[in-house]
Amino acid sequence: DRPIDWAAVRGDFPLLQRQVHGKPLIYFDAANTGQKPEVVIAATDDFYRRHNANVSRAVHALGSEATEAYEGARDKLARFLNVRTDELILCSGTTFAINLVAYSWGLPRLKAGDAILVTRMEHHANIVPWQLIAQRTGATIKVAELQPDGSLDLDALHAAMTPDVKLLALAHVSNVLGTINPVTGICREARKRGIVTVIDGSQAAPHMPVDIAAIGCDFYAVTGHKMSGPTGTGALWARREHINAMPPFLGGGEMIKEVRFDGTVFNEGPHKFEAGTPNIAGHVGLGAACDYLAGIGMANIAAREQALLAHATEEMLKIDGLRLYGTAPHKAAVISFAIAGTHSHDLATLLDLEGVAVRSGQHCAHPLLQWLGVGTTCRASLAFYNTHEEIDAFVAALRKVKRLLA
Ligand code: PMP
Repeated sequence: DRPIDWAAVRGDFPLLQRQVHGKPLIYFDAANTGQKPEVVIAATDDFYRRHNANVSRAVHALGSEATEAYEGARDKLARFLNVRTDELILCSGTTFAINLVAYSWGLPRLKAGDAILVTRMEHHANIVPWQLIAQRTGATIKVAELQPDGSLDLDALHAAMTPDVKLLALAHVSNVLGTINPVTGICREARKRGIVTVIDGSQAAPHMPVDIAAIGCDFYAVTGHKMSGPTGTGALWARREHINAMPPFLGGGEMIKEVRFDGTVFNEGPHKFEAGTPNIAGHVGLGAACDYLAGIGMANIAAREQALLAHATEEMLKIDGLRLYGTAPHKAAVISFAIAGTHSHDLATLLDLEGVAVRSGQHCAHPLLQWLGVGTTCRASLAFYNTHEEIDAFVAALRKVKRLLA
């Protein structure tokens, strides 16, 4: 692999030049949302300046340019995830994508006596839609538990794949623990038992090579704003057979072929699920983000973040009373922690005054926090544009605020 000039890469992100409270910003909240490189901002800006029109409607020149740009972005994202373009539904993010599966796949198929299997580490976006569908259909929710280090208990997970389980909804990477789940093997086991798999790739696609075709799942959801793209973008990949068989989620323009008062013929392929005017400029930006990330190389990004994770973990563990939540051998650069005798919101508030942005709270994962036995944690989540110097400054700031709070 060619060496990457990480200082130059960091220079691609204008926001990282900022100061906060008079200190250089240390942005350690990538798991919440990622910062945007200049090329993404420029692509979105250029769309509005030069090509803005609605898609798939007007015959005029701008209409074709907008449609080409939007469909071009779908191609880029499809290449990035190694899937077919006509199996990729563009939408506002993972939350929308999972709700789409819940309502279009789950609601018509599930019934009393069926079970939906989720894991203890899911984000609310991969719990609540299933609860809503369970209430409507009479299906039940089953939970696969974790090992003490925050990895999945695979024996328990496989044992939980009983004949009543119709669907497994699972994070590729945990947004709290950082655990990277072995989704390929899990999907193989599920498939053997006829269980449909939904992978929440929110925290995976921005940080490692994701080859959906190789994973062998049925559905895979990504959110653009964590992948250097604009907010309100993302996609659901669905197997062709599901795209064909599932009824639409929302009704409206764009998703139809013909509407009559005695019946409507829906569009085919992903467009059947894209009702209304989409976030065109945002997805053009997401297409640029895919090119940008692919240009650096996702394997390079993963290696860079692993080095940052190792450095941060080593230095943080030298702080007395600091406890890490999530120590699985395969984990992404998401570091949840607490310091004995301090409250995580106080830590985050004082860190902010030092220029450090971390998240504190329950990270949209209440059941996981209940299992951890803590009310809240602090979470430092890193990206390839962070530096080893920032880690040292963060750890120094952590020692300082710990002294203030002790
Ligand atoms: N799942 C996981 C694992 C996440 O980390 C997030 C974002 N915090 C989501 C789902 C929801 O993503 P979005 O809000 O972009 O739909």
